[in-house]
Amino acid sequence: MYTLNFNSSETAPEEFQFPKTRRLFKSTFVATTVAACTAASLLLIIAFPIPPINLREELEPGKSSCASRRHCHKSSSSYHKPPSPYLLSVLRDYEQRHKRCEPLTKSFNRSFFQVSSSPVGDDDDCSYVVFTRPTNGLGNRMLSMSSAFLYALLTNRVLLVDFGPDMTHLFSEPVPNSTWLFPEDSRFGNRIYGSKNNNNNHTAVLANNSSSFLHVNLGYGYDDYDKLFYSNEVQDGLQKVSWLILKSDQYFVPYLFLMSGFRAKLDRMFPDKETVFHHLGRYLFTPSDQAWGLIARFYDAYLANADERIGLQIRVLDTKASPTALVLKQVLRCAQKEAQILPPLATKQNETATKKLASKKTSYNKAVLVASLSSEFYVELKDMFWKRASASTGSDGEVAVGFHQASHEEVQRSNDGSHNMMAWVDIYLLSLCDVLVTSGWSTFGYVAQGLGGLRPWILQIPDTKYGGGETLWGNACRRAVSMEPCFHFPPSYDGNKVGVRVDGEEGGGSPSVVHCEDVGGGLKLVNV
Ligand code: GDP
Repeated sequence: MYTLNFNSSETAPEEFQFPKTRRLFKSTFVATTVAACTAASLLLIIAFPIPPINLREELEPGKSSCASRRHCHKSSSSYHKPPSPYLLSVLRDYEQRHKRCEPLTKSFNRSFFQVSSSPVGDDDDCSYVVFTRPTNGLGNRMLSMSSAFLYALLTNRVLLVDFGPDMTHLFSEPVPNSTWLFPEDSRFGNRIYGSKNNNNNHTAVLANNSSSFLHVNLGYGYDDYDKLFYSNEVQDGLQKVSWLILKSDQYFVPYLFLMSGFRAKLDRMFPDKETVFHHLGRYLFTPSDQAWGLIARFYDAYLANADERIGLQIRVLDTKASPTALVLKQVLRCAQKEAQILPPLATKQNETATKKLASKKTSYNKAVLVASLSSEFYVELKDMFWKRASASTGSDGEVAVGFHQASHEEVQRSNDGSHNMMAWVDIYLLSLCDVLVTSGWSTFGYVAQGLGGLRPWILQIPDTKYGGGETLWGNACRRAVSMEPCFHFPPSYDGNKVGVRVDGEEGGGSPSVVHCEDVGGGLKLVNV
């Protein structure tokens, strides 16, 4: 469809080339950023006490250009399992490919303008997945980006992102001295988005009739034709397509493990099945300097000195079905009784014991980070634990519980850059906690647990329809079986060739792919 033959040169036609000043600006900008970053790193390493463990350091020991940010992921207690040597080698190959194929290189131009006749897969050729701006929140976006990245690793493509202004300032570039940003110049965008048509693309692939630009929809509400993406036949056809323009808001990684064409490579990359997002997320998403400043200042001021950090992520999707008082009741039931991560509060019966404790010094400090769009939960919890003593059973003194909230944005505004920055800061701070309580169905919580390497306690948000704040499970929360996010809307098994049955159901599947704790029809990866 878009086969324009620029027969001689390997460079882009003149109208697609950036002015020289802009290219000069780009290299000056990179040099300045690296210098500024190195200086900032030194300061932050001194100020921020989190031990460094990161794929970047494993890939290029001592060579990270922006050490503080690349090293800022903490060593959490559950992060015992380092990346496999094979995953590291796949990432090293990826970085070479990315540098060779990044926007505006010769290889990029050749592929974009199709001046080469060699098929995709040739050593010199570059093929791409372009992640395009989805409408959903940051959690959804980050999960689908990491899925797109894994797909790129599996199919020897390069991942580029077309973020739009509400996300460009959140992350630093994953591949050092290189860019993953699809060119901003609208003439490039017009070309890929203009290539979208109403014909079903996967059907075209099956009919061996594909173009170089193909739009793939793997987002919520995708139809049966879109789901053909998951069939092996279509995957074979897609190898001939240089540019996949992907729209998704889903963590579709678990389904890739069900596809026979990818399974062997995935097993080698991830012998530990619950670390897929943990490793890929930590590789892709490092905070920008601006984000890192907000994270580090909050962490140092409110969380760093506690004996234990607890993250409470409270996402209310339906305020009518789950009014504040009911949600609060569930949060307390989960945190105090079921997970036992917050102490019970003093009652009339244990008042005497509490008075005795009051004369002793506080023995243990818990800092609780409350992440929520609203400030209500933070205010209620802080008052509750301040005005009443905790009925600690420890003999040394009372457990002090401090509540902190970094932001309360009140309403979701995912097209707003500063709102997304607050979301990213909250997600990252949650990931730095030692224990997490997250809300069921929330991709925001999934990202935090994955980056932090934590198996959270998942809240089943109460629903008035169960009466008295009861939940479907009977419990207020349950412990996640793995730290992996959930794929909310996998293609279902309906007797056609698209769906694959999962473990526990009849037919082919994988014991490592099971239904999620919080989303019955969803799929997630576990260790078996
Ligand atoms: P999900 O809807 O819970 O799956 O998570 P998403 O991240 O995809 O979308 C929710 C969006 O609402 C976030 O990206 C934020 O923009 C906003 N939001 C929800 N909860 C919080 C929170 O605790 N803190 C902040 N800062 N923003 C939130």
